[in-house]
Amino acid sequence: MYNPFDDICNLVNAAAKILGVDENAYAHIMKPEREITVSLPVKMDNGKQQVFDGFRIQHSCIRGPYKGGLRYHPNLDIENARALAAWMTFKCSLVDIPYGGGKGGIAVDPSQLSSGELERLTRAFIRALAPVIGPHVDIPAPDVNTDSKTMDIIVDEYSKIIGKPSPAVVTGKSVDNGGSIGRTEATGRGVAIITKEILAKNNQSIVGATVVIQGFGKVGYYAARILHEFGAKIIGISDIDGGYHNPAGIDIPNLDLTKTKRNISNEELLTLECDVLVPAALGNQITIKNAADIRAKIIVEGANGPVTGDADVILEKQGTTVVPDILANAGGVIVSYYEWLQNLENEKWTEARVNETLGNTMTAAFENVYQMHIDKSVPMRKAAYTISLQRLLG
Ligand code: NAD
Repeated sequence: MYNPFDDICNLVNAAAKILGVDENAYAHIMKPEREITVSLPVKMDNGKQQVFDGFRIQHSCIRGPYKGGLRYHPNLDIENARALAAWMTFKCSLVDIPYGGGKGGIAVDPSQLSSGELERLTRAFIRALAPVIGPHVDIPAPDVNTDSKTMDIIVDEYSKIIGKPSPAVVTGKSVDNGGSIGRTEATGRGVAIITKEILAKNNQSIVGATVVIQGFGKVGYYAARILHEFGAKIIGISDIDGGYHNPAGIDIPNLDLTKTKRNISNEELLTLECDVLVPAALGNQITIKNAADIRAKIIVEGANGPVTGDADVILEKQGTTVVPDILANAGGVIVSYYEWLQNLENEKWTEARVNETLGNTMTAAFENVYQMHIDKSVPMRKAAYTISLQRLLG
């Protein structure tokens, strides 16, 4: 059974070799510091009680409070959450923000719950986690199937528990409730910025570059919108209901995907010929089974862990450039950091300030990774882990 945490451990070992550090020096990063499982009884609309499983993995606080999203998905389990938490540790270190890594969520299909049931479930989760989260301890954020509304409920519940307003306990809130302008689109914006940068390294302009995007949620939708603004030609997109391919280019601003007839499966979408493929749905999408069929020249990972370690080897052999998740999708946590700073300092940044600071941070991280990739002749993922590990070890 594939376990993404094993891939992370392999990468850290490879990074340590490049740095020439002994395994004793980083053994503490190879295991999460704390793993929490909670059971969440919820009164359903039919009056019956149902009990859900929740998780929070606190991987590392070496560089600051644990930071990472909450996912509501039926396939979420402790192994998945462990990998997601570790990715956050390496991501925050790579982009040099003062956070550690955490992740969690609930094993649930939220489409099967009413909004009242979901709210009660979120409140139960926060009551269970309250002793181990907080603005200087562990700061959750949105992830798959959670959003600013979920975060607003968390602030409300957590503030009641501790008896004072505490907006900085989560990021990704609505702007009226202490959220930052620019946070909703930040991950997609970061993906678009990184796409532009990697194309430039290949002497190609973003204008007219063909892009295929898997997933049309918070990451995929904004990546599509901003890439379109940059002049890229989006020729394929998808969501859980299937894909839509239009070689002439999709009119993203006027697209309602829910009303668009699908003409391609999600599997086919991944193998379309294009300059850039952006997997922005779930992990484990490009594997040993389909890696050889990938025809994109570049993969920019919008999702966490969309390409497995085995697939990476095949992609490298066939000359596909992979820009890793811990770099490409870091825009969300970077603007989360700005949101947290604004909450703690009682400030409001303008959209221009958020986007400019985000752009500078992403580009600097990209340049570091690219330089390491050239200097050490290693794929960008290994380069990213090497920089990140070096910073974690101080
Ligand atoms: P989301 O819930 O907003 O959207 C997920 C999208 O993926 C939806 O369009 C859904 O229909 C689609 N999808 C689900 N299963 C699919 C399948 N089998 N095939 C194709 N599409 C499918 O979630 P999101 O916040 O956009 O997160 C997407 C990915 O990006 C996740 O891996 C998440 O961990 C990662 N990520 C999110 C953020 C963030 O700020 N939201 C930051 C960094 C990384």
